[in-house]
Amino acid sequence: MELDKRFLWHPYTPMQVYLEQTEPLVIERAEGARLFDADGRSYLDANSSWWCALLGHRHPRLVRALVDQAQTLAHVALAGITHEPAARLASELAALAPAGLEHVFFSDNGSTAVEAALKMALQFFAQNGAPERRRFVALEGAFHGETLGVTALGGIEVFRRPFAGVLLDCLHVPRADGGPEKAFAALEEYVMRHAGELAAVVLEPVLQGAAGMRLYSPDLLRKARALTESAGALLIFDEVFTGFGRTGPMWASQHAGISPDLLCLAKGLTGGMLPMGATLSTRRIFEGFFGDGSRAFLYGHTYSGNPLGARLALEVLAIYREEAVLERARPKAERIARCFAALAERPGVFAPRALGMVGAVDLGTESGYLERAGWRVYDEALKRGAYLRPLGNVVYVAPPLNIPDDDLDELLGIVMESVRAVVG
Ligand code: PMP
Repeated sequence: MELDKRFLWHPYTPMQVYLEQTEPLVIERAEGARLFDADGRSYLDANSSWWCALLGHRHPRLVRALVDQAQTLAHVALAGITHEPAARLASELAALAPAGLEHVFFSDNGSTAVEAALKMALQFFAQNGAPERRRFVALEGAFHGETLGVTALGGIEVFRRPFAGVLLDCLHVPRADGGPEKAFAALEEYVMRHAGELAAVVLEPVLQGAAGMRLYSPDLLRKARALTESAGALLIFDEVFTGFGRTGPMWASQHAGISPDLLCLAKGLTGGMLPMGATLSTRRIFEGFFGDGSRAFLYGHTYSGNPLGARLALEVLAIYREEAVLERARPKAERIARCFAALAERPGVFAPRALGMVGAVDLGTESGYLERAGWRVYDEALKRGAYLRPLGNVVYVAPPLNIPDDDLDELLGIVMESVRAVVG
């Protein structure tokens, strides 16, 4: 604790308040859906440790795969040289992805997966006869990561404000949960008005995570697909959060039955064991970089396609197949939906929503990342043995997809009691 307070600068944390008022949990180990602190107390991990540990912590097969790979090849560059884990993973992802996404570019995390997609879109148009296509469209409330490029896409004001004036050109369509008709109309107007200048529309399909677990209709995705096609722009799906079964099917785009031109993945890709990102592209975009060296995608990261991450990701996919992760999550998802519907019967609790392994409610009617009611529920949940980090006034769960039924029931019980303790 002493070293932490002296030297660490925590992510997403007002550090003065932290230094003066926060006694953080010190987590020593984790297993399955539980975190254990230095005193041996356990906490159910309600958000899969920032939405990553989709197979729980320390899945024995993932630990074995990691150790095994570390004993053979831990790291090697991926330019002009290759290795089996990266090539096999690319082929498996291409086979599993929505139709038409055939080529896989690896990077380090969710932000870089989207950053690579933006650069691909810009460079693709710049060298294939449409250099004027340099604008993006995203949704209000969108979150696509933290690099300066993708910060422009972010539709959450507090994250974007400090960088106003130095960001890429991005138009934000009014919030999708303001009603699909309103959003359709706005999207159509934006896309048509700026058709010739548009590089891509970027969406978190069906579920906006950081915005506060906001759901919107798959109709909007179909509409976006048709509009981008008619405008000659690309459609980018950021499935960093929604991918790997979080919303039910493997990809959230399956709710709409469509494919994007570029698909961004990270988080669950390695089951939360190592950072890794992937950007999948169509053959048309891939071939748009053919020709001499100046047309190449001169972009990469030191750890692109890292063998440890790639091997873990292959094991993740094998576990999904062999342990029927998605099928077994279905009844768990129904329990989550029932719990959150019941929560909203209390006064002061609004907008119950659930999709796949996500359930959420709003406390009060004020929305915003800096609201405090969710944090009072967080404190109550901690006392009862769950780590329930909120998004402002939004209380939500996004537990591991394979959380044991007993743990899930305990977690949902704690959510009910903790909300009740705060709203009365
Ligand atoms: N896209 C989405 C939809 C996300 O939810 C996140 C992270 N919460 C990111 C991108 C950024 O991912 P990372 O934190 O791995 O850079």
